[in-house]
Amino acid sequence: MYNQRLIRCPHCGSYCNVLKTRLITPVCSEVTVQCRNVDCLHRYVAQISPVRTLVPSQRPRGDIHLPQARTLSGPVAKGGV
Ligand SMILES: [Zn+2]
Repeated sequence: MYNQRLIRCPHCGSYCNVLKTRLITPVCSEVTVQCRNVDCLHRYVAQISPVRTLVPSQRPRGDIHLPQARTLSGPVAKGGV
């Protein structure tokens, strides 16, 4: 269900497992994650928010305003979009 390579541990840099998510606002979710590294096992809460649009929604909400990325080949998208 969740992309299990979404977030890295701030302490050891290993990937974390997503344990649960909670929608705070339409543009902010809290994600509880745990580090996969058995020597670390850091568990923490992170926030995820959209920062820019790459492809516009086909069902846009009037109260959501995200900046539009320039292009996939432009300077904004280089190195990981
Ligand atoms: Zn860790």
